Amino acid sequence: MSIAENLQDVYRRIRAAESAAGRQPGSVQLLAVSKTKPAEAVREAWQAGQRAFGENYVQEGVDKVQALADLAIDWHFIGPLQSNKTRIVAEHFHWVHSVDRLKIAQRLSEQRPADLPPLNLCLQINISGEDSKSGISLSELPALAHTVATLPNIQLRGLMCIPAPCTDPAQQRLPFQQLATALNALQHDLPQLDTLSMGMTDDMDAAIAEGATWVRIGTAIFGARNYA
Ligand SMILES: *Cc1c(COP(=O)(O)O)cnc(C)c1O
Repeated sequence: MSIAENLQDVYRRIRAAESAAGRQPGSVQLLAVSKTKPAEAVREAWQAGQRAFGENYVQEGVDKVQALADLAIDWHFIGPLQSNKTRIVAEHFHWVHSVDRLKIAQRLSEQRPADLPPLNLCLQINISGEDSKSGISLSELPALAHTVATLPNIQLRGLMCIPAPCTDPAQQRLPFQQLATALNALQHDLPQLDTLSMGMTDDMDAAIAEGATWVRIGTAIFGARNYA
C-alpha cells in the first residue's frame, strides 16, 4: 500500500472512532509521525493532503524542516528534549508535545523568535509511571501547568502521554481516561487548554474514545521503522 492509501485508511479509522464515540467529525486531528523516514516520504504524505508532521529527534527533524521548506507544514516536536537543543526547536517547530520540566518551557519561551507566533506546548505525563519514560507524574502537574501558563511567547495547550504498551482495548482506555480527567481538572483555572495528545498506531481507537484531540500515528502511515 502507498503512503496515500495508508493515510486514507487512517483518516477513515479516525472518522469511524469519532462517530463511535459520539464526537464531532473533525474533532480529532492526525499528526503523521515521520521519525526515521526520509523527507521524500513526508512530501508524499503532504501531496496526499496531510499537513501536520511529528519528529522525535532534533537534528533529524530540523534537516526535514529545511529540506521541505517549500511546503506549508505544521511541524510538531514529540521526542525527549534536552536544554542544549531548545533553541533550534523554538526556531523551527510550531508545537512541542514533550515538555516535562519548567527549565525546558522557560528556555523555549525565551528562545522563541519574536517574529513567530507563540509556540504551542503540551506537558508530557508519565501516565503509567514507567522508569524508562520521560514525563511528570499527575501529582506534579498542577504546579507545573500553572507556572508554564504564565510564560510569554508560548501557549500552553494541554497534555500528552505514551502509556505502557497494552493490547486489550478496554485496558488501553484507562490511562487515556486519566489524562482526560487531569485536563478537565486543569481547565477549571486554565480554560484555554484544549489539547489531549494521545493515541498511536496500536491504541488510537481507545484514545479517541477517551477524548484525544491529536493522535500521533507513524507505523500505520509510513510502515514499520528499522530503529527507534
Ligand atoms: C514513534 C512515536 C509515535 C508513533 O508511533 P506508531 O506506533 O508508529 O504510530 C507517536 N508518538 C511518539 C511520542 C512517538 O515517539
